[in-house]
Amino acid sequence: MRYIIISDIHSNLEALQAVFEDIGKVSPSDKIVCLGDVVGYGPNPNECVEFIAERTNFTIMGNHDHALLGLTDLEYFNPPAAYAILWTQDVLTDQNRKILETYQISVRENHILFVHATPKDPLNWDYISTPADAIYHLKDMTEPISFIGHSHIPVYYALDRKNRLIEERKDAFTLQIRNGFRYIINVGSVGQPRDRNPSAAYAIYDLDKKRVEVRRVPYDIQTTQQKMRKVNLPVFLIERLSRGI
Ligand code: ZN
Repeated sequence: MRYIIISDIHSNLEALQAVFEDIGKVSPSDKIVCLGDVVGYGPNPNECVEFIAERTNFTIMGNHDHALLGLTDLEYFNPPAAYAILWTQDVLTDQNRKILETYQISVRENHILFVHATPKDPLNWDYISTPADAIYHLKDMTEPISFIGHSHIPVYYALDRKNRLIEERKDAFTLQIRNGFRYIINVGSVGQPRDRNPSAAYAIYDLDKKRVEVRRVPYDIQTTQQKMRKVNLPVFLIERLSRGI
């Protein structure tokens, strides 16, 4: 079986559709998982919430989804992000808000932990940006693999059998999972990549081959930007999409 793992869509329908075209045929044994931040930043929150609800096996709660529901204070967000959350609160339908309420904080299955931000205390919304952050979370992990999103930057950290840290930061990569190692794998962002590659990112984990692949998919950024201009979303949020920052 395969897990197809998407994260940080941020109301970007063009990027989401391009990723699903790239995924192509999904077999009945595959599972599609979303690691959260379905909304925030972009122009199509309702379309993205519905698209994901129809296709995923489960969705994890992201900090933007949480803030949209009024559960995380907006003071934790920079002004353009907070503005986009308020705009989204205005346009999101009640029905789609109810879908957001069903998002889960974490899911454990098949010896994998799925969370949005970090394996420990996922609701603190901390970032794993340094080797020290990664070791802090890896050392107490009960599952050998944790898939995360949140930073919008694809990267993996591993602890080998002697607890030595391995780090690989690349816009796309293939990773062979080894017995006795522990991994935190960030699948990157579908709708707002921040690693200077503007193409959408997502991951496929093939459990039989024990292989993780992070893929990049170009999409029609200009259409998304036009839609954002039309509804007066902040210029910074519009411009960052073409630069992947
Ligand atoms: Zn995000």
